[in-house]
Amino acid sequence: MATVEFQSVSKRYQPGTPMAVIDLNLVCQEGEMLALLGPSGCGKSSTLKMAAGLEELTEGEILFGGVPVSRLPAGQRNIAMVFEDYCLYPNLTIAENIDFPLSVRGYSKAVRKERVDEVLAMLGLTDMADRKVHDLSGGAQQRIAIGRAVVRDPALILFDEPLSHLDGEQKIHLRAEISRLQKSRGVTSILVTHDQTEATAMADRIAIMRGGVLQQVAPPSRLYERPANIFVANFIGEPPMNLFPASVSAVVGHIDVPILAATIAVGDERRRMLEARQTRDLVVGLRPEHLIVETVSADRSVNAIIRYREPRGDADSLVLEILNRSGDTLVAELPGPTLFRAGDGVHLRIPAERMHLFDADTEFNLELDK
Ligand code: ADP
Repeated sequence: MATVEFQSVSKRYQPGTPMAVIDLNLVCQEGEMLALLGPSGCGKSSTLKMAAGLEELTEGEILFGGVPVSRLPAGQRNIAMVFEDYCLYPNLTIAENIDFPLSVRGYSKAVRKERVDEVLAMLGLTDMADRKVHDLSGGAQQRIAIGRAVVRDPALILFDEPLSHLDGEQKIHLRAEISRLQKSRGVTSILVTHDQTEATAMADRIAIMRGGVLQQVAPPSRLYERPANIFVANFIGEPPMNLFPASVSAVVGHIDVPILAATIAVGDERRRMLEARQTRDLVVGLRPEHLIVETVSADRSVNAIIRYREPRGDADSLVLEILNRSGDTLVAELPGPTLFRAGDGVHLRIPAERMHLFDADTEFNLELDK
């Protein structure tokens, strides 16, 4: 077990090409599952490979338990990796695959048997120990790969898109299984994924990257409740957050939201904050599940038409067009199934306390310190 610390780490593959990772400062705590999340090409794998010793750093240092490792070869870093495509030996049995890292490192027979039996029991595979792995399902194979990773109690496990090849149900089972094993062994882990559901389900904290730059690192609930900037706000949450331009109103303590043809009171605390920051141009964020959709008009409600309804079983997503603002749409999500239909007129209420306020120029959340 160890902390993993990236200190001002940068990576450039070839001279003259853009940096893949830019000045990354990030600590993965002992026993923590930290997810690296972001769109394709944002530098997640490059970061993981540098931790693994599979890619050199261009600048900076990586420390395991406070000790610099960037000059240590991969084999000396006491790391296990779990990849998307299991990488098992098809002609070995389940037990032999799990035993493999112990046998190549010359552990005694007695220790090997004890450790392998323990991991087989943890995975509920004791009765299948002698089966060859080639005819097992993808999910079963990945469980064995995870067993192989934990069997020698490495300092760090690196998971590289471990669930990408699996179907929906297997994914859910394996997410839970990985979390259980990771927590019961208390092994520091870094998970690379482009799937926010996976990161949210499994990670203690998520580091969001974009274009090689770390955007925010926080527990999943914090990313949802207080995204650091517009990119994170848009990336976390499904359907994504509604974002629309706004500006500080001439009416004190209010903001003008042209898309809603509305002036919304923001309260004293926010008025003081906006005055202190001297911000004028804003982007307002509102999660689809926080928009209130009603059939009767209320004080200050906004008229809209349902353009599209997507029933999703326990919830309905509605695409709403604001009346007289053709083309401007919002997405609302309601507990479902609802009785709404495309073409219905509805009334929207915007709960001001649920609004996220971003600076339109910097794109930063104006209330990140809250
Ligand atoms: P992610 O894992 O988030 O998809 P990567 O770390 O794989 O992102 O890639 C980050 C950037 O580095 C991308 O622009 C990618 O094209 C580039 N890159 C990754 N690996 C190499 C490589 N071996 N040689 C050159 N460029 C690379």
